[in-house]
Amino acid sequence: MDKNKQYQMETLGVRAGIDRTPEGEHSHAIFPTSSYIFDSAEQAAARFSGEEPGNIYSRFTNPTVRALQEKLTVMEAGAWTECTASGMAAINALCWGLLKAGDHVVSSRSIFGTINVLFETYLPRSGIEITFVDLTDPDAWRDAIQDNTKLFFLETPSNPLTEIADIKLLASIAHERDILLAVDNCFCTPALQRPLTLGADIVVHSATKYLDGQGRCIGGAIVGKDPALQEEIHKYIKTAGPSMSPFNAWVFIKGLETLVIRMRAHCEHALQLAQWLDQHPQVNHVFYPGLESHPQHALAKSQQVGFGGIVSFEVEGGRAAAWALINNTKLLSITGNLGDVKTIITHPATTTHGRVPEESRLKAGITEGIVRLAVGLEAPHDIIADLEQAFKAAK
Ligand SMILES: *Cc1c(COP(=O)(O)O)cnc(C)c1O
Repeated sequence: MDKNKQYQMETLGVRAGIDRTPEGEHSHAIFPTSSYIFDSAEQAAARFSGEEPGNIYSRFTNPTVRALQEKLTVMEAGAWTECTASGMAAINALCWGLLKAGDHVVSSRSIFGTINVLFETYLPRSGIEITFVDLTDPDAWRDAIQDNTKLFFLETPSNPLTEIADIKLLASIAHERDILLAVDNCFCTPALQRPLTLGADIVVHSATKYLDGQGRCIGGAIVGKDPALQEEIHKYIKTAGPSMSPFNAWVFIKGLETLVIRMRAHCEHALQLAQWLDQHPQVNHVFYPGLESHPQHALAKSQQVGFGGIVSFEVEGGRAAAWALINNTKLLSITGNLGDVKTIITHPATTTHGRVPEESRLKAGITEGIVRLAVGLEAPHDIIADLEQAFKAAK
């Protein structure tokens, strides 16, 4: 690649971060090695002391993982990336690398369930305070700030109701008080949204989802701008050990090569599904930022390139009707994951959000009738036909 040229996202996905060995391989090499050899005892000492840069041990650095990190850094418009063994490991590295007892975090209430457990149980256990606020209410974020607030954390669009946070506005509120803004960009990926260009300081990913896109591997990443933050996060990863395997990194590199065209297709299919569901007599409401009726359609349009692959809807008849619909599908997969080529159907109230107390769940609008679709890459006609026969059978 020409370092002085600006390439478009499709090109970056395919080409960025490639560092060939002298063998001249066209597809990226995998480096399954736990350690690296030194020419001499002197060199070993220089590497360990940090005097000489270079590989020491794959818990610290690995060339395959580094290639993925370089690709993601360019795609997210950051300055650095640290990869981890899972999305949760990335969020743990963010928290334990940057926070300490006495700090305070403000987080959106609508976040991935396991992050909720981390924030509610493990942060307070280590003396870190947490306040949950509504994703879409900027005044609530401002009002929650304390003198010891260090971090704002959010996910946009939210899961499963696809609410949208105004990243630029929340970044400016955070920065007035020297607070870092971290955005979980799992639903959009850099193909659809680049939070660092909108003012966020850190992006976190569950690479498990769309970055792989084919349901094969668990992985995570943290992308940022300030090198001082990278140093702290890298030190944590190297000490705690949630490092990414080179095999998984290779799968994610291959996933990123097709990210843009996959995300474009996910968006197109999801919009077709959302429009069809919107007309369906057994559906009360559809949640999809691509519909003009979505309360934040304009905001989504301004900060995202596309509206994503997640469509949620509320069926008439509560849990019984939702479960009957799910049980009568023949093509779709009943599982809790998302971001796969295969369309996934989920009942959030009893699975992904089952641990959230009923009162907070209802407050967040996740009723028993809500069904979430992670729309895949099968022909939309076939996805619609499967749901149509399931709706009929569920009546
Ligand atoms: C899945 C997910 C995570 C956690 O990632 P894992 O790879 O499962 O550890 C974090 N955030 C969001 C939005 C997710 O969907």
